[in-house]
Amino acid sequence: MSTPTGSGSSPTSSPTSTSGLVVAVDGPSGSGKSSVSRAVARSLGLAYLDTGAMYRAATWWCVHEGVPLTDREAVAAAVVALPLDQGLDPDAPHVVVGGTDVTAAIRDTAVSAAVSAVATNLAARAELGRRQRAVIAAERTGGWSGGRGVVAEGRDITTAIAPDAPVRVLLTASEEARLRRRSLEVHGTDDAAAVAATRDQVVRRDADDSTVVQFRVAADGVVTLDSSDLDFDETVAALLAVVERRGAPA
Ligand code: C5P
Repeated sequence: MSTPTGSGSSPTSSPTSTSGLVVAVDGPSGSGKSSVSRAVARSLGLAYLDTGAMYRAATWWCVHEGVPLTDREAVAAAVVALPLDQGLDPDAPHVVVGGTDVTAAIRDTAVSAAVSAVATNLAARAELGRRQRAVIAAERTGGWSGGRGVVAEGRDITTAIAPDAPVRVLLTASEEARLRRRSLEVHGTDDAAAVAATRDQVVRRDADDSTVVQFRVAADGVVTLDSSDLDFDETVAALLAVVERRGAPA
């Protein structure tokens, strides 16, 4: 299947005011956007679209197929052919590529270190963006969520993929907070050595990514949510409050 699809059963709760809602969340590495977006989707019974997982899956596929990441045309062709099956259930966000479950493998440091090569390939971005728009359109009216809506998160969702979403949020955090969080996630500790080892994944990757997408400063109409001094539950509550206001600033 070439487009992310849902699996399992749709939420059973009846549609509420979130029906057809699109919540777009962007942010840098370590801002917590994936786990926070997932929790918000779960809480509201919405689908969850992790667009970073699509870039990671595309990277894994190129490496698996022996496509040199420096060969831009070959990478673009591989991404167009990417046989991706991505779950939209926030409780079970599986990623399968060509029949192989890569949910865990796409989080490997090797994929994190290489993913910017795909993300900065404009033809690859166009293809993944096309698939992302198709998923979001489907979840507005049906799809896995039964038309309740979707929380889509990444780097360019508020600006390029769903600029018309009623809720658009840039989730930020200080570089120090982001390094600490990613270090805890990847190395299980935030001591000095682990933080230093995480720096490439956070700082260098964001620098590379920001050559093709702007996700450091909120675009017009996008609410900035700074999580530097918030814990996970507080950040989820803050994002839910923005959704409640339908994206209006506090
Ligand atoms: O969010 P995550 O760290 O999983 O994203 C992995 C990579 O995918 C990012 O570093 C970026 O290169 C790319 N990405 C992107 N546009 C998006 C989502 C992710 O370029 N919408």
